[in-house]
Amino acid sequence: MSTVRRPIVPRPARKREKVLVILQEQCKQCGLCVEFCPKNVLCLDMSKYNRKGYHPVTACDIDACVNCEFCERICPDMAIFLTEREKAREAYEKGTLQEGTLIPEFEQERAKREKEEDE
Ligand code: SF4
Ligand code: SF4
Repeated sequence: MSTVRRPIVPRPARKREKVLVILQEQCKQCGLCVEFCPKNVLCLDMSKYNRKGYHPVTACDIDACVNCEFCERICPDMAIFLTEREKAREAYEKGTLQEGTLIPEFEQERAKREKEEDE
């Protein structure tokens, strides 16, 4: 088995078929995904601590995500990844996501809906 790690190369941008999922309890605040996301989608949530005592990653501009999967490839803790939209939506709506799972796109939609209902 080779001990040489293959270089990590972002995939080219394409239509956003998948949703970004962040397992905030698994994040160790290393900042790699924040630093290397080509679209500056990610940031640390300085208002929150996870159980390990880290400020977890969140999305500051989820609309800019191009599904390149670079964050998924670079995260050493498998705390951020992309997944099939419909499967994720089903789990999100049923409330079966594991604790600390953030799907920024769905949270944004929910916040928008709640705002419209309040108006
Ligand atoms: S997939 Fe990850 S690295 Fe690529 S644009 Fe979206 S958040 Fe950034
Ligand atoms: S690369 Fe992974 S562990 Fe590091 S800040 Fe991003 S999500 Fe957290």
